[in-house]
Amino acid sequence: KVRVRFAPSPTGALHIGGVRTALYNYLFARQHGGDMIFRIEDTDSNRFVPGAEEYIIESFKWLGIHFDEGVTFGGNCGPYRQSERREIYKKYVQILLDNDKAYIAFDTPEELDAKRTEIANFQYDASTRGMMRNSLVLSKEEVDALIAAGKQYVVRFKIEPNEDIHVNDLIRGGVVINSSILDDKVLYKSADELPTYHLANIVDDHLMDVSHVIRGEEWLPSAPLHVLLYRAFGWEDTMPSFAHLPLLLKPEGNGKLSKRDGDRLGFPVFPLEWHDPKTNEVSSGYRESGYLPEAVINFLALLGWNPGNEQEVMSMDELISLFDLHRCSKSGAKFDYKKGLWFNHQYIQLKSNEEIAELFLPVLKEHGVEAPLEKVIAVVGMMKDRVTFVKELWDVCSFFFVAPTAYDEKTAKKRWKEDSARCMTELAEVLAGIDDFSIEGQEKVVMDWIAAKEYHTGNIMNAFRLTLVGEGKGPHMFDISWILGKEETLARIKRAVE
Ligand code: GLU
Repeated sequence: KVRVRFAPSPTGALHIGGVRTALYNYLFARQHGGDMIFRIEDTDSNRFVPGAEEYIIESFKWLGIHFDEGVTFGGNCGPYRQSERREIYKKYVQILLDNDKAYIAFDTPEELDAKRTEIANFQYDASTRGMMRNSLVLSKEEVDALIAAGKQYVVRFKIEPNEDIHVNDLIRGGVVINSSILDDKVLYKSADELPTYHLANIVDDHLMDVSHVIRGEEWLPSAPLHVLLYRAFGWEDTMPSFAHLPLLLKPEGNGKLSKRDGDRLGFPVFPLEWHDPKTNEVSSGYRESGYLPEAVINFLALLGWNPGNEQEVMSMDELISLFDLHRCSKSGAKFDYKKGLWFNHQYIQLKSNEEIAELFLPVLKEHGVEAPLEKVIAVVGMMKDRVTFVKELWDVCSFFFVAPTAYDEKTAKKRWKEDSARCMTELAEVLAGIDDFSIEGQEKVVMDWIAAKEYHTGNIMNAFRLTLVGEGKGPHMFDISWILGKEETLARIKRAVE
């Protein structure tokens, strides 16, 4: 059975690259009828940031990415928070020690620093471990005595040199690395009685029956070590398949995407607004900036993958059926944030006018407007193709809800002719006599009136627009007067000619 996991460390806001990783895991799991696990990797207590876990959960809720098991979701493989699994890890560390796959080391940070100055490119590995203070050089009695005396230690993985390690990656194919370049990684620290990422990650993926590890490219260098760990435990047969996703690059393509790029170019790199409890800094989020979650999902799905044709707009269901790990690119994906804007515009068009109206109501309220839902829906339908964000609707359609209190001078100078006031008074009389105030109903009567009087259509319409809108913008004239209704239309003309 396909079982994947998203395993963030709660060290701050969830980066948009992490969201993309979670999304690909989700699409893959759903396509295969598998499970998606949410695990919190919090073994590094120094980097723990309060609120981060809750933030991550809320982000996925907003985005519509659902987990089947994990922290707050339950399941049979819990606990899913690594800090609550200490005893489990201790047991597995002991297994490695007992099988001579790992050893205890007492070197202090000072001793390690001294060695680093003494030996260029010092690495704690098979070539240097004999020079250090560890259980491979000390006698069992000495080791026991040191531990009994309360000396802190770490457990290091014993990597045998000169061996080619093969990592099979579903995106990159076979990757071969020689074990001699790997150091004897620390797997466990007695000081906090916690394992490091590598050990906890492998033990958990094994115990949680994870079938596929889909994660960012930054973890590719760790993959050979992980393969060796699976082997050391004798779990090679059930080792998960690996897929390392391409990095997200700066919009210009020169290097890894960072938060600073967002600040520099004005786009969020976090799904939700984030208040950093350590620095008090507030960073913008896609949600608060007015993006629709569907647009963010669609945008991210195409950063590193494509369906093999020109199709761009895809719902979550379509993505689930089309997604293919083998079609993920090996090279980094430029973070073309302008494409994100395009997607948001597309999804505003795709959503029903009712849905967009619901989202627009709070914006209207902010501007002190309470309007009947029917009217808001009609205005939205007429104006939504002009905006990228729902909140921008206000800028293009406020005149539907608030009568002009002043008239744009430049427009008035050009478009308000000597006889405009008289013509508008006449127009008001004509409109007052119309029973069918529909767009077509008005158009017919008004056009006949213009023709009969031999007026200039452009001049009449320009003046009419100025009375209703206050400036020269807006959709078709009778669309506006139809939505405003007879009473309001007449009231606005009256106010303008006075
Ligand atoms: N805790 C790691 C992270 O924060 C997970 C890496 C992995 O998926 O193995 O990205």
